[in-house]
Amino acid sequence: MLRRRPDPDAVNGPLNYALLQAEALFVDVVNVNGIRPPGGAVERALRAFARQIKIPIETAFSELNAPANAKGELAEPALQSILAERSRGRRPGITIFVVQAIEGLRCRGGYIRGQEVGEAVVLSASGMRRQLVRVLPAARWWAVVILHELLHAVGLAARKGHAWRGCHCTAPWCNLYATVDWRSILCAALLCRLPMTLCRQCREDLEQPPPAGWDESPPAADRELGLLNALVALNGDNPRVYAMRADYLCQRQDPRAIPDLSRAIDLGHSRVAGCYFNRGQMYLLIGDPDRARADFEAGLRLRSGGELTPSHQEAIRATKFLDALALRREWARANNLEVNPELLTKIGVLEYDWQGFFGTLAETVDPATGRSVLLEEIAKAAKGPKGDPPESKLLAECMETAGLVQYLTAAPALDGAVDLRGYLFLARTLPTGPDRTVEHAASGRDSG
Ligand SMILES: [Zn+2]
Ligand SMILES: [Zn+2]
Repeated sequence: MLRRRPDPDAVNGPLNYALLQAEALFVDVVNVNGIRPPGGAVERALRAFARQIKIPIETAFSELNAPANAKGELAEPALQSILAERSRGRRPGITIFVVQAIEGLRCRGGYIRGQEVGEAVVLSASGMRRQLVRVLPAARWWAVVILHELLHAVGLAARKGHAWRGCHCTAPWCNLYATVDWRSILCAALLCRLPMTLCRQCREDLEQPPPAGWDESPPAADRELGLLNALVALNGDNPRVYAMRADYLCQRQDPRAIPDLSRAIDLGHSRVAGCYFNRGQMYLLIGDPDRARADFEAGLRLRSGGELTPSHQEAIRATKFLDALALRREWARANNLEVNPELLTKIGVLEYDWQGFFGTLAETVDPATGRSVLLEEIAKAAKGPKGDPPESKLLAECMETAGLVQYLTAAPALDGAVDLRGYLFLARTLPTGPDRTVEHAASGRDSG
């Protein structure tokens, strides 16, 4: 059997329905610094592509000059800015950039999809020459590669049953096979042609209907989340996809990660300790210290010797923090301090999760009233119309800090009306543990 074995841990991927459900696709070919594919290669690839996806294609060619080094190589930032400028907002479509080479990269190019760049294929003439199978006419080989990248752009290969090396296909006679090896050479020799078509499984992939909940026009900012949603919809029994989406949400301090982490734990994720740690962090964020503690302890119990990972260190720091929080609560009660227990937890978590911000906040509180102008400004900016950038740099920074504004404005809100003196007094008297060496950013939210 010529086919490769599928990867055991492959997942079903979403097709790119934004492209596949279009009436027509626009393909822009941009020749950077005069570098062109061999004559006829693009046309050949696009004809095959249109046949596969059954959508008419409109093509446009253009030229672009970009700064490059003496060898004609583009630096990565230059490439990024070209991609952002040229491919964003052109929909539905794909932009093909033909460059000499990219600094530090030897590959033939690839498909790039991202918030900033839209749908883009980058082809490196040097990389192609390096890989070119010498006996073949260059135009034929370029056509195979261009078709391959365009098919990645529509989301192939999509199903795990024949997925290999990421989004590649196990069939060496299929255009989505990942490499040139004896299998693909033998197939090409036997069939007397290069792989300009898809295998049956890849053709069936293309016929998959959109998964439930697929949104026709996800806002650009949520594109990544949209893809993760699709991954979850397509792999409902795979704990990894829940953990992947949870990682995305955790990085943004978004407690919607909680149900995903619970699911990953229930389905027996291989890195279950990481799931507990992340869920503990999210429970803290929604002001549930008891559940948070249970999760940190559950994660720590799973440790089987060896060195402490950053996640373990973070969990230990978190439990110390929870101890300090419990002490603060007791102290407040014993000394009849006028503090709201919920706000006490909330301000404690603020200190734990956003240390830098908490320090600034403590410095800017008016000692006479205990009120914070900074919190007031943030609350105002959060309510105000979007678009106007805030005047102060500090305020702008706060508004951009992941999850911070949502955290402050969620009930009970920290909006500048609160007298913070009692809370800050408790924070100074009962600090949340001396262990400040572990950076929170390195907390190893690595359950994916
Ligand atoms: Zn590929
Ligand atoms: Zn295939």
